[in-house]
Amino acid sequence: MGVGIGVPGLVDPDRGRVAVAPNLPALNERELGPDLGRVLGRPVRVENDVNAIAVGEWRKGAGRGARALLVVTLGTGVGGGLILAGTLYRGPDGTAGEVGHMPLRPGGPRCRCGARGCLEVYASATAVVAAARAAGVPTEGGAAAVAVAARAGDPRARKVFARAGAAVGVAAAGLVNLLNLDRMVIGGGLAGAWDLMEPHARRELGRRAFSRPLERFRWAPSLLGDDAGVVGAAILAKENMGA
Ligand SMILES: [Zn+2]
Repeated sequence: MGVGIGVPGLVDPDRGRVAVAPNLPALNERELGPDLGRVLGRPVRVENDVNAIAVGEWRKGAGRGARALLVVTLGTGVGGGLILAGTLYRGPDGTAGEVGHMPLRPGGPRCRCGARGCLEVYASATAVVAAARAAGVPTEGGAAAVAVAARAGDPRARKVFARAGAAVGVAAAGLVNLLNLDRMVIGGGLAGAWDLMEPHARRELGRRAFSRPLERFRWAPSLLGDDAGVVGAAILAKENMGA
């Protein structure tokens, strides 16, 4: 039996190599698959962590039955994994799915990637907490605390989620029109607050997306939660190695 592992970074799954992992620099340029495989005595399949999450949700979670699926994680940053035409779409360099750095506003706030106005600066948990703090909402407890305030009717907190939801809706409209996306699964730390964001996302999507793909399209909060990456990595290990 093989082992699957998801790494937050750019990986080459065929070689088991981590090209760059910005938050785990010790793994940069490391042959993680072969190295771990020697220690464990089993084949190890290395995949990008959000790609593993996408495969998990697609095969066993909220993405089941979707034909063109984006799984987006709204967490510290915003990540994404794309399933197209019945397979995980990595792109020629393995970088596909980075929906967090889809530009929404050319002159928007600076993103950690260096560009301005990326989806991530509006819709990450980090962005929600920063906007809430700036609006005077207590943020001890992070985005979950902001969600509690919003549910209690705090208009400032509700506005923060409205802005984040609207940003997701604008991004989704572009993706629905470009890819005929039929499902978007929302994961990450903000998934539990998706009900606060969804009406605003739906409004912006409805203003921009073509009606035919829009009829088919739906959102779904993650079903597997924190297990999605583990499930997806295991599926990838099994299917790519026959283990
Ligand atoms: Zn960015």
